[in-house]
Amino acid sequence: MDSARTPAYDDPRPAPRALATEAVHAGREDLARQGLHAPPIDLSTTYPSYDSRAEAARIDAFAADGAEFEGPPVYGRLGNPTVSRFETALARLEGTEAAVAFASGMAALSAVLLTRSALGLRHVVAVRPLYGCSDHLLTAGLLGSEVTWTDPAGIADALRPDTGLVMVESPANPTLAEVDLRAVAHACGSVPLLADNTFATPVLQRPAGQGARLVLHSATKYLGGHGDVMAGVVACDEELAGRLRQVRFATGGVLHPLAGYLLLRGLSTLPVRVRAASATAAELAARLAADPRIARVHYPRIGGAMVAFEVHGDPHEVIGRVRLITPAVSLGSVDTLIQHPASISHRIVDAEDRRGAGVSDRLLRMSVGLEDVDDLWADLDAALGDRQPQDRERPGARGLHPAVG
Ligand SMILES: *Cc1c(COP(=O)(O)O)cnc(C)c1O
Repeated sequence: MDSARTPAYDDPRPAPRALATEAVHAGREDLARQGLHAPPIDLSTTYPSYDSRAEAARIDAFAADGAEFEGPPVYGRLGNPTVSRFETALARLEGTEAAVAFASGMAALSAVLLTRSALGLRHVVAVRPLYGCSDHLLTAGLLGSEVTWTDPAGIADALRPDTGLVMVESPANPTLAEVDLRAVAHACGSVPLLADNTFATPVLQRPAGQGARLVLHSATKYLGGHGDVMAGVVACDEELAGRLRQVRFATGGVLHPLAGYLLLRGLSTLPVRVRAASATAAELAARLAADPRIARVHYPRIGGAMVAFEVHGDPHEVIGRVRLITPAVSLGSVDTLIQHPASISHRIVDAEDRRGAGVSDRLLRMSVGLEDVDDLWADLDAALGDRQPQDRERPGARGLHPAVG
C-alpha cells in the first residue's frame, strides 16, 4: 500500500473535530481497517494468554498508575474493549484526556468519593440542590465522607485542609438552578471540582473547559438516551482516571459490555436528540410561563430538554392525569417523562433540606422527549386541569424565571 495515501489510522488523537462529527466517529476509528461497520461486542470475562510474564508486568503497571491496558485485558473487571470505546468517545465529547465508566451514576460518584478518602481527604464541599441520591450519599456519610453544604459564594470559606472534593450540578436536579462553573472552579483552588453534567450533556456545556477536573454523568439519562441502559461515567484527566480505574477494579462497579455498546450507539445521536428536545422544551416552557395554572417555570439559561414548574393546584393530580407523557422518574429518554421530585427523585432528602434547596412541594420536573410539541402541550394542558376563574382574571405577567442561584 502507498503509505503516503494511507490514512493515519493509528493516530490516537486526531485533530479536533466538531462535536457532531466526534459523536458519530469517536471510539470507532479502527473499525473500517478491520472491515467492520458496527462496533463488536466483547462479552469475555477472561482473556487467554500464553505469556504470564507479560501479564505480570501489565498487572504491575496497572497497580502503579491505573493506566488503561494496552491489548486485551486479563480479566473483565480490569477493562473491556467495548466499554473502552464508549469511554474514548465520551472523553472526546467532554474534551478530557480520559473517561472511566461504571455500572451507574451512583457507582461513578461512589468511586470518586473513595479515591479522595483513600488519600485522607474525606471532607466534601457541596452545593444544593443535587440529585436526591447524591445528596443522600453525602448527607448520610455512607462512604465515610463528611459534607459541608454551602452556596457557590461560600465555597472558598468552606474549604479545609482535608477537603478532597467540591461538588456541584449545573443545571441542577430538579430545580435547573445554574452555577457559574468558571467562578466555582476558581474558588476551589487546588481542590478538584466535580461537575455533574447529566442535565446539560457535552452538547450544551463542557465543564472541563471551565475548570472542572471531574465531569460526572448518569449515562442512564441522555447519553444512553432511550431509557434502556443504566450507567455512569466520569470524564477527567489521566491521573484521576488511573485512580478511578484502580477503585473500579477493587470494588467491582464495572459497566457491562452490552451497556457499553448501547451507550456508544446512544452517543452518535446525542447532539440531534438534545437539540431537538431542547427546542420543544423551550417552547413548552414559554407556554407554561404564560399559563395561569402555573405559579413558576424554571428553565435554564443554557437551554436543554428539562423543564420544571410549580403548579397552583395539586401536583399529584397532574401526574395522575397525563396520558401521552410518561409518569416516571428518570430523564433523557426519547419519550417525555414527568415526575414529582418531593415524592420520588428527592424523597430521600430531608423535607426541610429539600425545601431549603428550592425544591417546592408543588414542583414538577419534566424531561422533554422527541414527540410533537403540540401533542405534548395538549396532554399537559389536559393534565393541568381546569383554569380557575380567579386565575383567568389575573394579568398574565408571570414570566419565565431563569433558574439561577
Ligand atoms: C440520575 C442521576 C444520578 C444518578 O445516576 P444513576 O445512573 O441513576 O445511578 C446522578 N446525578 C444526576 C444529576 C442524575 O439525574
